[in-house]
Amino acid sequence: MLKEKKKQQQSLHKRHSEYAFANKQLEKLSNGVFANGELPTFSEKINETGHFPLRPTKLEILQINVGYMCNQVCEHCHVDAGPDRKEIMTRETMLQCLEVIKNTGAHTLDLTGGAPEMNPNFRWFVEEASKAGIKDFIVRSNLTIIRANKKYYDLPDFFKKHNVHVVSSMPHWTRGKTDKQRGAGVFDLSIKALQELNAVGYGMLGSTLRLDLVYNPSGAFLPGDQTSMEKDFKKALLEDFGIHFHNLFAITNLPISRFLDYLIASENYEDYMYSLVEAYNPAAVKSVMCRNTISVSWDGYLYDCDFNQMLELKVASKIQHISEYNEDILNDRNIIISQHCYGCTAGAGSSCQGAVAK
Ligand code: SF4
Ligand code: SF4
Repeated sequence: MLKEKKKQQQSLHKRHSEYAFANKQLEKLSNGVFANGELPTFSEKINETGHFPLRPTKLEILQINVGYMCNQVCEHCHVDAGPDRKEIMTRETMLQCLEVIKNTGAHTLDLTGGAPEMNPNFRWFVEEASKAGIKDFIVRSNLTIIRANKKYYDLPDFFKKHNVHVVSSMPHWTRGKTDKQRGAGVFDLSIKALQELNAVGYGMLGSTLRLDLVYNPSGAFLPGDQTSMEKDFKKALLEDFGIHFHNLFAITNLPISRFLDYLIASENYEDYMYSLVEAYNPAAVKSVMCRNTISVSWDGYLYDCDFNQMLELKVASKIQHISEYNEDILNDRNIIISQHCYGCTAGAGSSCQGAVAK
């Protein structure tokens, strides 16, 4: 029992799990029901609806992953993040990113991790990046980091000072469901952090300090309707804890990394892939986030999205690193796809900004 508990507090990497490796994940996604023709591959499916090859539109979002270290080890993390991950963006790579941030045509800068705040250069990077005047500057904060250690207690004020848009995961408004997915004690710390963000003005009606929450399902099922879930979350969090926030993004769990490991271990993998394929929505393909996003990894390599980054699928372009960034050349590429992409096109679709289609 204790051994099992300890395992749950470690990344797949630390556990030397088979699915810590991108090639093993891709192998799983290419074989079985997709190799024997029971289900169409993603490229076959989008070809049927005239969307192959998938090509970028104009770049709008630059997403930078500043490291895989995190104070949490959530059950379904697609990054396989945790306290034992040591991959951290250096200041040198951040300087290369800043050059790009100053010159990009993107209107959104999105810092993610792991827990981005755990990067020792995080505050310096935010201060510098905020000077570039990008319209929407997002930091993906897991909330508990704000209460994890005294040195993080002033994060709400720091975010406010730099007019950062805070986007935070909150899988449910109940303690049981949240703690099951994200770890014991996460719910209470998240509530406290949300109250502190509200106290400095985040998430309040009419406030320009944006606070959005992200929901992802706790098991092998697709998210419900984003609009009605947002209403339920707002009602429950306000009534129970006096908490306000702006929008809720409902995100589908993609079958990679720890969620793939969970699907296989719980014998839900095939059923889940069937439900993703059956829910395929051609309207969502047009708006998948890789079409207007570039994802930068902790070591400066470029990817079509954060999921491709975790699968180590670099952009299909002669420009592959932030140090040689060229938006025009990068935009002239085919997006690399595999069966995990079905997670972005099921139902209302899914992106880091939630549903993408009606
Ligand atoms: S807080 Fe986010 S990055 Fe950290 S383990 Fe959980 S899902 Fe992964
Ligand atoms: S997983 Fe990435 S590449 Fe695939 S459709 Fe989604 S955003 Fe695009």
